[in-house]
Amino acid sequence: MENRRTEISDLGEFGLIDRISQNFTSLNKETQLGIGDDAAVLNSLGGCTVVTTDMLLEGVHFDLSFTPLQHLGYKAVAVNISDVAAMNAIPKHITVNLGLSNRFSVEAVDEFYKGVKAACEDYNVDLIGGDTTSSISGLIISVTAMGIVGQDKVVKRSGAKDKDVICVTGDLGAAFIGLQVLEREKQVFIANPDMQPQLDKYDYIVQRQLKPAARTGVIHEFAELNIVPSSMIDVSDGLASELLHLSKQSGVGMRIYEDKLPIDKQTYDTAVELGLDPTTAALNGGEDYELLFTVSMEDMEKLKKHSDIHFIGYVQSSDKGNIMATKGGNEVEVTAQGWSHFKKK
Ligand code: ADP
Ligand code: MG
Repeated sequence: MENRRTEISDLGEFGLIDRISQNFTSLNKETQLGIGDDAAVLNSLGGCTVVTTDMLLEGVHFDLSFTPLQHLGYKAVAVNISDVAAMNAIPKHITVNLGLSNRFSVEAVDEFYKGVKAACEDYNVDLIGGDTTSSISGLIISVTAMGIVGQDKVVKRSGAKDKDVICVTGDLGAAFIGLQVLEREKQVFIANPDMQPQLDKYDYIVQRQLKPAARTGVIHEFAELNIVPSSMIDVSDGLASELLHLSKQSGVGMRIYEDKLPIDKQTYDTAVELGLDPTTAALNGGEDYELLFTVSMEDMEKLKKHSDIHFIGYVQSSDKGNIMATKGGNEVEVTAQGWSHFKKK
């Protein structure tokens, strides 16, 4: 496969679309008609539909020199699914738009869609359409995701209340530190192409960067436990930035504890190795695609035994501001760019 290169022009746009759509079959009863007509037909069975879209540009959002196309296809879907989950919705449908330069072969598109398909299977969503055009500026990917949620179960960024508990899933900072490792290896490779990248000891953080997972499992668990968070957002830009969104849109303050931030050991050790502060990575790294949410004290009780949900602080009145209590016993203001305490270093 590595050696074969079929020009997209050999297949033509419609041939390419046929080839893509052949590999996808519908998983959801909400998908009445998928790829192949002028528009898809969706059955909506009451409730709300949430829609979100994201665009990824080569050189801006991803670097193909260290990003396998399959992972890129997966990630492009997962980041949109994460946005659907952040509304407390169950993802159902995606569309994928591609701008392809002539650098890309049919085989390259196949690789990309392998990742798209893996994500569709992991998150139980149907690819129901898209658009394919040529690009003169590298690869352009745009994914739209749709999901459904009961009218009374929609969770917005607004809605956090004084004394609610602040929770985050999984761990933070890994994707950012993983990216630093990949960038470093790329520089080593440019300097000496005979050097093979040594990534084994960084497997977790590199995977968090290249193939992030969306937290749809937690959304199903909320439904089972009859929990509706008071506010929620997914961590794409970094915990600090997302906390400030919840704070601003809910009209409240936030108080978090540095020693409660979930940081994986590999993230921690690699950050130290690279001379970076693990807490800064957790606060400002981004691309974690974890869910940050607030729940009432009662709902928090139901989540206590959950091994992958961490309580990192609580909501306070807005006049108290957005504060992090540090391990050293200081209080620092949470700002989107990290905080002055770290900047001095
Ligand atoms: P139209 O000219 O009506 O927009 P197209 O030829 O662009 O139709 O698309 C035909 C079908 O293929 C539609 O269902 C469209 O959503 C789907 N499609 C086109 N490009 C892609 C793609 N890159 N991925 C998935 N589906 C696609
Ligand atoms: Mg079209």
